[in-house]
Amino acid sequence: MARAARSAEDRRATSACDTLSPHDGRSALTRETPATYDGGTSAQPSWSASAVNADGRPAEAGADGPAADAGDLLTRAIDALADLDIDALSDELLAERLSGLRIPLGRLRSVQARWAAALESRRIAAAPPQRAGAAQRNARNELSQQQRLTPSETKRLVEAGKAAQRHTETGRAFADGHLTPDHVRVLDLLLTQLDPLQRAELEPRLVALAARMHASLFGRKARALVAAAAPEALAASEDRLRGRRYLRASSTPDGGFAFSGLLYGTAAETARIALDAFTRPDAAGEHRTPEQRAADGFEQLCTAVIRTAEAPTQHGTRPQVLVSIDAEQLEIAHTADRIGHARFVWSGQPVSTRELGHLLDDCALTGVLLDARRTPIEVTTAVRTVPVGLYRALQVRDGGCTWDGCAAPASWCDVAHGAQAYRDDGRLHPGNAALLCRSHHRRFDLGSWRIDIDGDRVRYLRNHDPP
Ligand SMILES: [Zn+2]
Repeated sequence: MARAARSAEDRRATSACDTLSPHDGRSALTRETPATYDGGTSAQPSWSASAVNADGRPAEAGADGPAADAGDLLTRAIDALADLDIDALSDELLAERLSGLRIPLGRLRSVQARWAAALESRRIAAAPPQRAGAAQRNARNELSQQQRLTPSETKRLVEAGKAAQRHTETGRAFADGHLTPDHVRVLDLLLTQLDPLQRAELEPRLVALAARMHASLFGRKARALVAAAAPEALAASEDRLRGRRYLRASSTPDGGFAFSGLLYGTAAETARIALDAFTRPDAAGEHRTPEQRAADGFEQLCTAVIRTAEAPTQHGTRPQVLVSIDAEQLEIAHTADRIGHARFVWSGQPVSTRELGHLLDDCALTGVLLDARRTPIEVTTAVRTVPVGLYRALQVRDGGCTWDGCAAPASWCDVAHGAQAYRDDGRLHPGNAALLCRSHHRRFDLGSWRIDIDGDRVRYLRNHDPP
């Protein structure tokens, strides 16, 4: 039964692939086009929605005046480009054709931005003054749905369209296809802070600069130019930007912690430097994506920060990762090859003792005795699993992370040990413990590694490697 359902699904998947195969892909796609895009889109300009016949060719021109004519021409021009047999082109010619798309696409985007800005201005003008904010929100929502743009893409588009009207040279370069909406927004932010005389002098220079590079690089160079010519204008733009700062953080349904944010000025530089300082390159045999490397760096940064004495305290204790674990689960965690479970106190998120491995190795344990109704009746003083003397000894011997090729300093490191430590009745000594940075500690705990210590030389061997 399940087998039959599976094979029906397979057939569907296969036939979908057939439709998109390179041999008849084009005709299949154009045949599909009216059915896919026509439904319920009658509010769209007629030429983009329905001026294409069932065979994918433009319908009769001229039905809706000059705009429809232009739309038909555009459709035909795009058809001609799409029909180009790029497999027959040399690399150089293909690169040249691709490069030729930049200006027309830029011009089209500027038309889109200008129209979007005009439509929003009309919607706002038609609303009573006290409803202007709501009218703008509605106009943006409508535009976002109509153009299939995210809210932030919509905002950037409309803002660029409006900014292009405020600054003559900028507007012209945008209309000529030399600038992207992001360029225009950078220009607008700086130009509006300048007095008329400065603006007349700087705008042509800034526009010429913008036309030569992408918006992020341009932004840095443009701010440098304005900083030299009119530092007070740079300061004013900084004030405006600071208002846009944010950090959003939330728990995800799968137990993660998601965050995104935007910082400016000194805050941005501090964050850049802090993250970079705690981000280490891959060690031998390690292959992380840049995003994973930054994520590990951020974890290391947070770990280091809550360890310092400067971290703000609550009820006399520094912020720390608190884990609640039943005594029997702790026992299980200390048995080789078995996994217990615990709970993070702050977030209430459940966690396996395998994930906790590195925390349980190097932490302070506080026993809380509960009665039958789980009321605490006795609390022991915290006992460190790693005695201070041992920690000092490892700092001297290892100096930092002992993973092959890792340069993380001692201040980033936890004390790690193999399964052997607990079989020796929980006694740690320099012969079975070593310093590891947070991500290598996790790698050690989650893989099947063993520590091999000979004098001051620490090596990590796969469990199946010979001694
Ligand atoms: Zn390391």
